[in-house]
Amino acid sequence: MPRVIEAAVPGFSVQGCLSKMAAALPGRQDQPVVYHLRAGEHRVALNERIGEPLSLRWTGAIACTHCGRATKKSFAQGHCYPCFKRLAQCDTCIMKPETCHFFQGTCREPEWGERHCFQPHIVYLANSSGLKVGITRKTQMPTRWLDQGAIQALPILEVDTRQQSGFVEMLFKEQVADRTNWRAMLKGDVETMDLSAERDRLLTLLADGLHQLRETHGADAIRLLEQPAQHFHYPVSVFPKKVVSHNFDKQPLVEGVLQGVKGQYLILDSGVINLRKFTGYEIQVS
Ligand SMILES: [Zn+2]
Repeated sequence: MPRVIEAAVPGFSVQGCLSKMAAALPGRQDQPVVYHLRAGEHRVALNERIGEPLSLRWTGAIACTHCGRATKKSFAQGHCYPCFKRLAQCDTCIMKPETCHFFQGTCREPEWGERHCFQPHIVYLANSSGLKVGITRKTQMPTRWLDQGAIQALPILEVDTRQQSGFVEMLFKEQVADRTNWRAMLKGDVETMDLSAERDRLLTLLADGLHQLRETHGADAIRLLEQPAQHFHYPVSVFPKKVVSHNFDKQPLVEGVLQGVKGQYLILDSGVINLRKFTGYEIQVS
């Protein structure tokens, strides 16, 4: 395990390759999500830096998050081109699970597929910039929702494989968006909604389609979940009125007063930046 260095002291500078931020639920539901920026072995506690100047400088280097090799360009959020073409996790079927081709014998890494795709998946409703449907491995809750900046989430169905979750999601997409409007998410004016009522409405509307999926995959392949909705608060002191985004590829120095963190975005008074997009970029943080 790499050494972990806490770098909470303002003025302290650390350097390393970016991973997506660590987002953790607080001890109490009315407290904000707890964020740490991760650069190499360093972790920078962000909640206590809000209101303070923060500077991120890209050194120009990018290291593949999988093999560690230097790469000029990042593919699929932090991979070198060979890993991007070789790894199952970079295949298009991960984004479109209904196109899973494991049973055609063409999975790029069948053992990885067995471990990651043949395990329980959850179909959920979330409110990030309005109602959306999504899928995730059971073990990825609530991380998936926090990464999207959802203010509410409700698991509604459980299935046995990633592909099945894709079929169910396709059905729900007839009625609900599956994307977050990140600008709306960052502006913070998202209204809370009654996700349980939305679930009941959609299950009624889509009853025929769900029945057909159960006919194909087995009566108990798609299981109804009875769980309460979860609510999340984000550490944001000022929401941006106009969303301007930073990009290390165009301007390697990103600095400003940190006003909040939501999803995988830092909100600075100079603009916002999606840190996940720059996974693998070597950054100096101060
Ligand atoms: Zn690589």
